[in-house]
Amino acid sequence: ACGYSLLRDPRHNKGLAFTDKERDAHYLLGLLPPSVPSQELQVKKLMNIIRQYQVPLQKYMYMMDLQERNERLFYKLLIDHVEEMLPIVYTPTVGEACQKYGSIFSRPQGLYISLKEKGRILEVLRNWPEKNIQVIVVTDGQRILGLGDLGCQGMGIPVGKLSLYTALGGVRPSACLPITIDVGTNNEKLLDDEFYIGLRQRRATGQEYDELLHEFMTAVKQNYGERVLVQFEDFANHNAFDLLAKYGTTHLVFNDDIQGTAAVVLSGLMAALKLLGGTLADHRFLFLGAGEAGTGIAELIALEISKQTQMPLDEARKNIWLVDSKGLIVESRKESLQHFKKPWAHDHEPVETLLEAVNDIKPTVLIGTSGVGRTFTQEVVEAMASFNEKPLILALSNPTSQSECTAEQAYTWTNGRAIYASGSPFPPVEYEGQTYVPGQSNNAYIFPGLGLGLIMSGTIRVHDDMLLAASEALAAQVTQENLDNGQIYPPFTNIRKISAHIAANVAAKAYELGLATRLPRPKDLVAYAESCMYSPSYRNYR
Ligand code: NAP
Ligand code: MN
Repeated sequence: ACGYSLLRDPRHNKGLAFTDKERDAHYLLGLLPPSVPSQELQVKKLMNIIRQYQVPLQKYMYMMDLQERNERLFYKLLIDHVEEMLPIVYTPTVGEACQKYGSIFSRPQGLYISLKEKGRILEVLRNWPEKNIQVIVVTDGQRILGLGDLGCQGMGIPVGKLSLYTALGGVRPSACLPITIDVGTNNEKLLDDEFYIGLRQRRATGQEYDELLHEFMTAVKQNYGERVLVQFEDFANHNAFDLLAKYGTTHLVFNDDIQGTAAVVLSGLMAALKLLGGTLADHRFLFLGAGEAGTGIAELIALEISKQTQMPLDEARKNIWLVDSKGLIVESRKESLQHFKKPWAHDHEPVETLLEAVNDIKPTVLIGTSGVGRTFTQEVVEAMASFNEKPLILALSNPTSQSECTAEQAYTWTNGRAIYASGSPFPPVEYEGQTYVPGQSNNAYIFPGLGLGLIMSGTIRVHDDMLLAASEALAAQVTQENLDNGQIYPPFTNIRKISAHIAANVAAKAYELGLATRLPRPKDLVAYAESCMYSPSYRNYR
């Protein structure tokens, strides 16, 4: 019992907030000045400091430091100021942090598993101090946001995602484990960077890659059991689809870029229908980008349409079109397409550009999932506005620099008629005397609640119906007032309540499908979800 080490233990440290009794009982006398502020006052003080930093990356570094110093205060601050702090610990700032991770790196915040650890992954897992892990977020760093291959420096993403699991979804921080698998990088800039923290070699592929991943997945199950959730994050798409298919039947796995994004977009569409009218089957969808996000969303929309209309899935896909780097995906390209694009090769003559595709297909909904910024040009957006009274435009690519168009562009180019949401946040826009509040269509609305629902019900496999359940629960949280402002997502301020509802709906589905192992089923699942959620308030040490 040494007070000095208590102050240096982030999980138990309260800083000045240790009460006089606690100071007495835990050998802290004299180690702190006399003042005993409340946790609220501590948050106020830190917010004053954070707001003085002009540069978002400095705010990020301050937050990472706080997380290492006083975990509960970090989460209290993040929860109480979620709208303001989300863009710091998450997109867009986390993207810049990853790009500079080697230089700003101070203390490791998760597990690094590189090719050097091949054959010893179980040993690596056992070096982590916590034994009861409920969620792992793992990346191999190959497609970090829309920033490309950042190798080992992708670690910022699992760390950021897991802090949202706790702040937004209420999963205990000690149950969260960020992991980066380092098989090298093909990013020449990083390979030449003297501060790069990863393996200095080009990416291992094929058998070497598969074996490392297989050893990892096997070790995870062996060490943490069947109910640990493994969230794949920011893998390149060929690996992402393969891993999901390969481990989906033996592990509790979830790909956020494919499935989380799909659920959040479907939810936005469900809410938007209240503004646009009609059912999903009445709308026509065009995507720019046919990778994980694009085809993942497209597939979930088709699934929902086919459930609503009893239409066969193939039929439901007909109103959904995708453009990739080679143009519109059409029948004549089918032979050469990657497997996840094949279902979208519809009958149509070849079309090269997005503008032509928009004019040909005349979509009611335009969705950007290409990772390439400013591709929704003025012509494209104006074309959408020419045949839609309220064009729905979703610019999902992250970070902000990669947004297909800005909120301001969407509103001005459509004379304020667009319904717009983006992957990374934009501030409200003033246009001709009116204020437009853009929404944020980001999987951060979904994965924390979905994860909580899986964990609290002891679910052992993820099923598509659980994604639909998550979408419905999120859409149900959009109020008439939100819709009147053109918002198809609820504000993040209420995210913990929203997550509890998502968790409850997901868990209900898991029980219904017989995939939940926590028995008996709690009667009131929302209340149960809330009771499971981690609170960042300080505890009393006697
Ligand atoms: P991905 O699997 O690599 O897919 C990218 C797709 O975009 C590919 O189909 C690619 O075409 C296409 N593309 C690339 N450049 C293009 C161009 N100039 N014109 C037309 N198409 C082009 O990536 P992803 O995982 O889907 O992610 C894409 C973006 O979505 C990223 O910026 C990511 O941050 C964002 N995202 C957002 C969310 C959210 O919650 N808002 C969630 C996940 C991802 P080819 O197939 O021909 O190469
Ligand atoms: Mn992602």
